[in-house]
Amino acid sequence: MLKNNNDNHKNHENNYNNELNNKIINHKNYIYFDHAATTPVLPEVVEEINKCFLNYYGNASEPHYPGKKAKEILENARQTIAEIIGATSAEIVFTSGGTESDNLALFGIAEAYKKKGNHIITSVIEHPAVIMPLKYLEKKGYKITYLPVDGNGFIDPDDLKKSITDKTILVSIMHANNIVGTIQPIKEIGAILKEKNIIFHTDAVQTFCNIKTNVDELGVDLLSLSGHKIYGPKGVGAIYIRKGTRIMPHIFGGGQEHGRRSGTENIPSIAGLAKAAQINFQNLEDKIMKITKMRDYLIEEVLKRISDAKLNGHPSIRLPGNANFSFKYVEGEAMVLRLDSFGIAVSSGSACSSSSMKPSSTLVAMGISPQDAFGSLRVTIGFENTFDEINYFLECLEKTIKELRKISPLCNLKNPTI
Ligand code: PLP
Repeated sequence: MLKNNNDNHKNHENNYNNELNNKIINHKNYIYFDHAATTPVLPEVVEEINKCFLNYYGNASEPHYPGKKAKEILENARQTIAEIIGATSAEIVFTSGGTESDNLALFGIAEAYKKKGNHIITSVIEHPAVIMPLKYLEKKGYKITYLPVDGNGFIDPDDLKKSITDKTILVSIMHANNIVGTIQPIKEIGAILKEKNIIFHTDAVQTFCNIKTNVDELGVDLLSLSGHKIYGPKGVGAIYIRKGTRIMPHIFGGGQEHGRRSGTENIPSIAGLAKAAQINFQNLEDKIMKITKMRDYLIEEVLKRISDAKLNGHPSIRLPGNANFSFKYVEGEAMVLRLDSFGIAVSSGSACSSSSMKPSSTLVAMGISPQDAFGSLRVTIGFENTFDEINYFLECLEKTIKELRKISPLCNLKNPTI
C-alpha cells in the first residue's frame, strides 16, 4: 500500500518509527491521522491494565494485602503524573477523563468561591467540556466573559486584563486547541492572574505528554488531563489542584481522592494512564522534533500540490502533530469518507461535534468563512506515524480533491485546477 517511498525523508525517520510501529497493533494497512480525537493504546499499557485486572483487584481503601497492593499501584500512578507536570502527588485527583476534570474545575471553583465573586473568564474556542458547564453556570447567575480570538486562534492577554473585575474568581483558558492546535500564551496569562490573585485553570487534554506541561512554569492552579490522547485508556484522566486552592467536589460518596472525587478508584485504568504518560514522557523532546518535521513537510506539500488550499491556525505556534486545512469547493465530511476508503483516518472537525452539521465553532470564531470552515480537514500526526504514510496520504488527498471538485457545482463555476 505504501509504495511511494521518499528517500529524501527516510533520513528523518528515527528509531521511534519502527519501535512504535511494531508496538502498536495497526488495523491492517490502515493509516491513522486522527490523534487529536483519540490515540491507539500502547501494548505496554494494555499489559499493565491486564496485570491490574488479574492481580491487583483489591479495593484501595481496604487495609488487607490486596487492598494495600491496589493502594500502592494507585499512589505510584499519582506520583508518576505529579512528577511529569512538576506537582506533588497530593495535588493530583484521578477522574473519569478530561470532561470530568474540566467540570470539577469549573463547578468546584464556582461553588467554593461564590462568596468572593460570580465572574468567570474563558475563551470562545474552549472545548465543550468547558463551554457547557459555563453555560450552565450562566443560567445559575454567574457572569461569563468569552474572550474572542484572532485569525490564528490566539486570545489577547490585554483583552483578558481588561475583562478582569473585582468579582472575577476564575479564568479557564485551554493550553492548546483541539481543532487548530493553537498554543495559547498560558505563561503570560498565568503571570497576570498571579498578580491579581485569580485562580487559573487550563484544559491541557491536548498538551499533556505531547508538549511540556509544567504547572509552575505555566503558572496554573488547576490543570485537566486525559488518558486517551496519550496512547492510554479512555474513561480515565486527572486534575491537578494546586495546594491551597479550595474546591467543592461534585461527586459525593466514600470520600476517596481526599474527598474531592468519591468512588472506588479504577486501578487498572489509572495504572494504564500512568504507564502511557511515563512512556510518552520519555524522550519527549525528540518525539516532538520528529512529529514537527512530519507536520511541516505535510503542510508544505499540501499547499504546494493543491490549489485553493490554506492552512488554518498559526504556522508554528501549534501542537507538533496538528495540521488543519481549508480546501475550497469541497466538503470536509466528503473528504473524510473518501480518504477512509483509501484506508486513512482524518477528521473534518472535533470528534465531539463532527456529527453535527454546523461548521466548527473554533474556525468560525477565528473569522474563517462558513464555506472554508465546511471545507476543513484536520490531520493529527502521532509518534508512530512515518513519512511514508504522509506521502501516501498526500497522493490520496490529491486524488480525493480532484474527484470531489469534478462533481462540485461551485468548482465548475470557477474551474480551478488542482
Ligand atoms: N478538552 C479537550 C481540549 C479535548 O480535546 C477533549 C477531548 O476531545 C476533552 C477536553 C474531553 O476529554 P475526555 O474525552 O477525556 O473526556
